[in-house]
Amino acid sequence: MGLVILVAIFLLPFDGGSSTLYGTVWPKISNLGQTQSGGDTAKLTYDYIWIIAFILLIIAGVVGIFPLGTGVLGVVGMAMITVSPYLVYPNDSAHALSAGAGFYAMWAASIVSLGASFWHGKRQEAAPPVSVMVTQTQNVGTQSPPPAKTAKCPNCQTENPLEATTCSKCGKALPKAT
Ligand SMILES: [Zn+2]
Repeated sequence: MGLVILVAIFLLPFDGGSSTLYGTVWPKISNLGQTQSGGDTAKLTYDYIWIIAFILLIIAGVVGIFPLGTGVLGVVGMAMITVSPYLVYPNDSAHALSAGAGFYAMWAASIVSLGASFWHGKRQEAAPPVSVMVTQTQNVGTQSPPPAKTAKCPNCQTENPLEATTCSKCGKALPKAT
């Protein structure tokens, strides 16, 4: 999924036109000094949001082998880009985001990564609690001392270890312990 994000950043058109996210952000980075001295705080804020989001998304792509990192960074980066026009230019539709294939691919990759990491984490957590619950239920349900660690031979009544398959005294096959 990280690879999808990287490919989307550099190859897929991010906006409605043909420029990639890289192609959109790079001029903002190279003109940052000019923007800073220009005194247009709205544009400066807007550019900063995009540059930070761009860096987050690059990191998200690079750490692609860790789904959680990709997911969290990807979602944060994409959320920043998505809300930035409303945040900085709330009443200016000229800055409304026109989303292209790259935009959707990066959102999808981020969310899939996040979902995959949660699913993976849940699976790892699931095993221990279930067995603990089963043990507790059994204890509560029977209210009796734990079952003996021996199996009685049906032939001669000799107590044999549970794992034994034949009686130690008479040699008869023991019923399988359940
Ligand atoms: Zn026996």
